[in-house]
Amino acid sequence: MKNYVIIGNGAAAVGVIEGIRSLDRDGKITVVSRENRHVYCRPLISYLLEGKTDENLMLYRPEDFYERNGVKVIYGKSAESLDPKSKKVILGNGEALDYDEICIAAGSSPFVPPIEGLESVKKRHSFMTLDDAEALAADLTPDSEVLIIGAGLIGLKCAEGILGRCKKITVCDLAPRVLSSILDSDCAAIMQKRLEQMGIEFLLGDTVSRFEGEKAIMQSGAAVGFDVLVTAVGVRANTSLVKSAGGETGRGISVDTRMRTTLPSVYAAGDCTESLDITSGVKKVMAIMPLAYIQGRCAGINMAGGDEELNNSFPMNSIGFNGLHCMSAGSYDGDCWEQKTERGIKRLYTKDNLLKGFIIIGDIDRAGIYTSLIRNKTPLDSVDFELLKKSPSLAPFGKAFRDEKLGGVI
Ligand SMILES: Cc1cc2nc3c(=O)[nH]c(=O)nc-3n(C[C@H](O)[C@H](O)[C@H](O)COP(=O)(O)OP(=O)(O)OC[C@H]3O[C@@H](n4cnc5c(N)ncnc54)[C@H](O)[C@@H]3O)c2cc1C
Repeated sequence: MKNYVIIGNGAAAVGVIEGIRSLDRDGKITVVSRENRHVYCRPLISYLLEGKTDENLMLYRPEDFYERNGVKVIYGKSAESLDPKSKKVILGNGEALDYDEICIAAGSSPFVPPIEGLESVKKRHSFMTLDDAEALAADLTPDSEVLIIGAGLIGLKCAEGILGRCKKITVCDLAPRVLSSILDSDCAAIMQKRLEQMGIEFLLGDTVSRFEGEKAIMQSGAAVGFDVLVTAVGVRANTSLVKSAGGETGRGISVDTRMRTTLPSVYAAGDCTESLDITSGVKKVMAIMPLAYIQGRCAGINMAGGDEELNNSFPMNSIGFNGLHCMSAGSYDGDCWEQKTERGIKRLYTKDNLLKGFIIIGDIDRAGIYTSLIRNKTPLDSVDFELLKKSPSLAPFGKAFRDEKLGGVI
């Protein structure tokens, strides 16, 4: 009977469990979970603050998931080191777990910037976990003035989540625009306008140089008063277990298409990894939940002796504020075709007869057609791309493709 260990208890870990169990019903599976929680849907923490969901609805798998799959979860403990030679992982309490195959599915940790005086701020939070969300909620009052450092996805989701719970929200970012890692200035301006209409204030191209208690002194010299601080400047992949054991890491743990690290019998999946982005040919951390699950499942199948490969990954983001949706995917490389619409903008990037990436703000209906063109590396001259650009549908694909996807219904 094989002995499997999984470090972490998020979407990637669930994928690993389901991947293993698709081939091996009997092996022993142990999950080590730093968080003292049943697996939940991390992107929903802002919806919890908004009152749009609750802890039960946030569960990523039903209560009896571990029991049904014969999984032992060690809650509230961290894996501290890994010895691939003796095949042991050492936990924070000194306990050693033996394994035959291990998967590191440890996600990422918020990066807290070393700003002078930060320790003098009494109510400061990150926004990564359900515990973070609950602690933030406990500090908020209807009179709270909140300063969020970071206008990326996490900072903005946090702002949206707490909007109805406080008096004022200011978001600052050193970048001159919101969502700077995924949007250019034109697209970012559309999203920023919507967020401002919702009541969120921005200080862009400026960030905190020091704190004097509950006063932030900005690089520009401006002073911003607040009583609750959220730092959301970015996350770092949790690579240390593999790195300190001598495995290859970059921004994330380096994995191949079977989710193997460079250490024997050590796999990795999810936000802690970097893998090949097919649209740029570059290894990247692609921190999105569906990919974490798929990578985990691929790792699990291979750990159980199967042969699964994943070679069609690329970055994707989807975010919406008050009905204005924004979706982006792939890389913004090659020729750009642009369409301005009443509700927003659409940009498609093509190179070498392939769709490489897109940004759509506004009407994201059927944008899945574009992601499948990217994923399948569909040659654009094999479809009516002129028609697809303006109106994504399956009609411009050949009959064989439609038959395969839809059983010939259109
Ligand atoms: C506010 C927010 C909004 C988001 N919105 C979206 C969205 O809209 N769409 C989307 O696709 N993605 C979104 N994401 C990203 C998404 O949540 C992640 O891609 C996904 O959760 C990654 O899953 P994972 O299993 O790799 O890592 P995680 O979910 O981070 O799980 C890793 C777990 O491992 C634990 N751990 C770490 N180190 C150790 C250790 N040494 N020992 C034991 N346990 C350890 C961690 O505590 C954590 O519980 C969002 C994230 C946040 C924070």
